[in-house]
Amino acid sequence: METLHLGDVSIASIIERDGPWRRPEDMFPAYTADPGLAHLRALPPSVFDAASGRLVITYQTFVIRTPKHTILVDTCTGEDKGYPAPMDFPKQPWLDGFAALGLRFTDIDYVFCTHLHIDHCGWNTRLVNGRWVPTFPNAKYVFHKREYAAWEDATAKGANPPGNVWTYNCRPIVEAGQALLVDDDFTLDDTVWLTPTPGHSPCHCCVNIRAGGRRAVVTGDMMHHALQCREPDWSTVFDWDAKQAAASRRSFLASVADTDTLILPIHFPAPTAGRIGADGTRFHYRFGPG
Ligand SMILES: [Zn+2]
Repeated sequence: METLHLGDVSIASIIERDGPWRRPEDMFPAYTADPGLAHLRALPPSVFDAASGRLVITYQTFVIRTPKHTILVDTCTGEDKGYPAPMDFPKQPWLDGFAALGLRFTDIDYVFCTHLHIDHCGWNTRLVNGRWVPTFPNAKYVFHKREYAAWEDATAKGANPPGNVWTYNCRPIVEAGQALLVDDDFTLDDTVWLTPTPGHSPCHCCVNIRAGGRRAVVTGDMMHHALQCREPDWSTVFDWDAKQAAASRRSFLASVADTDTLILPIHFPAPTAGRIGADGTRFHYRFGPG
């Protein structure tokens, strides 16, 4: 994604992994080729690899620079976690992208996680001398407190495969005293705040940015593909509560439809950012910052 500017705030992207990923029928239990293929063909060719029949899914971190703070939203899968394929992405692309923005680990003031899944909290920590430590020594990490508690509980029950996401990426932040365990009405300042969009995970939140008279929203995994704007009820196999995920998606899409609110979904390929248009009970995703 090209760096976006809203007034005195910039929003950039660091890509960890890009390209064709899963088949839509494997991702969405409700998927059917009719009307799924027609929806996909109506979207830009960059979002669906027709040759392999796979959706194009990007894994990225957003970097928000305000006059006061440098903020990361969602931190991909990270390094040295030992995750099994296909989640064993090489670490260098993310590190190169981070450096290309002129950033050092010490520059980060806040890390927001829309939720605490494997591909959204990885760079929270690094392995140093055999211990998982916060990657960003000066940062406060903003986790929803009940999201944190839910994955702590799931980990204790052995129900958070591959089992170490919370242990490696979340607990060390709390132990280091760098976590802000917040509620879903958390407001950092006039520029950045959370809104709840539960369903994909127990307490998934969107991260809102307001600057230059415009709003942008990092939507995390509230939707994984632009296809879900055409079919808001198509939740993914990764959603914790498919019905709640669909309800959050519909309600959010309706709330921003036909406004100039910029949408920043983590998994949408470049140009990533877009706006929502209403179309009866469905919606359109219009790529481009507009
Ligand atoms: Zn994700």
